[in-house]
Amino acid sequence: MFVAGNWKMNKTVKETKDFFNEFNKLVSKTKNEILICPSFPCIPAAKQFASKKVFIGAQDAFFEEKGEFTGKVSFLQLKDFCDFVLLGHSDQRHKFSESNQSINKKIKTALKFNFNVILCVGETLEEKEEEKTNLVLSEQLSDSLKGIFFNSKLFVAYEPVWVIGTGKTAKQNDVFEAHSFIRSQLTELFGEKANSTKILYGGSVKPENCKEIFSIKNVDGVLVGGASLNPKTFAQIANTAK
Ligand code: PEP
Repeated sequence: MFVAGNWKMNKTVKETKDFFNEFNKLVSKTKNEILICPSFPCIPAAKQFASKKVFIGAQDAFFEEKGEFTGKVSFLQLKDFCDFVLLGHSDQRHKFSESNQSINKKIKTALKFNFNVILCVGETLEEKEEEKTNLVLSEQLSDSLKGIFFNSKLFVAYEPVWVIGTGKTAKQNDVFEAHSFIRSQLTELFGEKANSTKILYGGSVKPENCKEIFSIKNVDGVLVGGASLNPKTFAQIANTAK
């Protein structure tokens, strides 16, 4: 299983160091792959203090390489520190109005710089209630991946927006259906090779529910927000076998 943590806008450099001092020991025997995405100022400290078992990634980056883009960080600048990036997270889509077109440009630049990309997709509560989940997922995938060929560095994370940060979990069948649908869309875009694309589930994943989530077909791992901030709870998830 691939277990990714998104720290969002949390933790200082000292807190990052303290986290890894505890976390490294707790996950020394895990067979799962682990990724942690801190915010930009903590990425160098995470790289320094995380054990070699843990991949480090960014939560976003801009599609231009350099220039007059105040406040932005490029993949060229990030590449000395990490080789994973989350793109299209629902915070970016819904709090900062990010479009699929912008995400598409970012994915192209990220792959050009050899980053592993976790493309996040998912419907809002309103879209779910209007039974538009598949429509939203298919639009987000086809528009974000326009002009992109199969790449083994591309992951997809299904994160229903109505579950993220709420403590609620999506029903097992909702996760099963969304992941099957995403797999079929990826196969339409990339052919049979898409069977190997990792599809992660994200939305209030905790030590108590991760085993059940791991057992769902087409779930290749999880993307964890809140529960990744505590070394003990995140280690419990990272140590859970399928
Ligand atoms: C996330 O922000 O990607 C996420 C899944 O958050 P949480 O686990 O807190 O719902």
